[in-house]
Amino acid sequence: MTRPGAIWREITKNLGRKPATVLYPKERLPIPSNFRGRPVFDPEKCVGCKICERDCPSGVITIEKVAEKTFACTFSLDKCIFCGQCADSCPRKAITMSQIFELAAFKKDSLVDRKAGTPPEPKAQEEEKKDEGQAV
Ligand code: SF4
Ligand code: SF4
Repeated sequence: MTRPGAIWREITKNLGRKPATVLYPKERLPIPSNFRGRPVFDPEKCVGCKICERDCPSGVITIEKVAEKTFACTFSLDKCIFCGQCADSCPRKAITMSQIFELAAFKKDSLVDRKAGTPPEPKAQEEEKKDEGQAV
């Protein structure tokens, strides 16, 4: 049973204290450095091995080849549990966990995030092939 007067002691103790909450979104608390927010894909680093696709426990990731040595990554973020496994598994560090957490959306479709690399210029591709031919 609560002792009489305990509630008043509690009230007076808390009256002078700063509130524990902030006026979000006007005020923001610092985000911890190890926070796992939206996964971000860097097409420049991806080699298309699909390890991320295989390891994702929620089936969020689809990797597709869009051109020679160029890949696209699609995240269906409505299914993401922000576990960070994709970032841990990627051997090229092509996926990183950002600090972005504001993902509320009215439509599920807007949570599909696709990013594709830019295919190299045809001239650059020819030179690359020539270099590969010389190396053999
Ligand atoms: S954070 Fe986890 S659930 Fe989200 S895409 Fe990466 S592996 Fe999948
Ligand atoms: S694991 Fe990394 S390098 Fe391999 S397909 Fe996924 S993002 Fe690309």
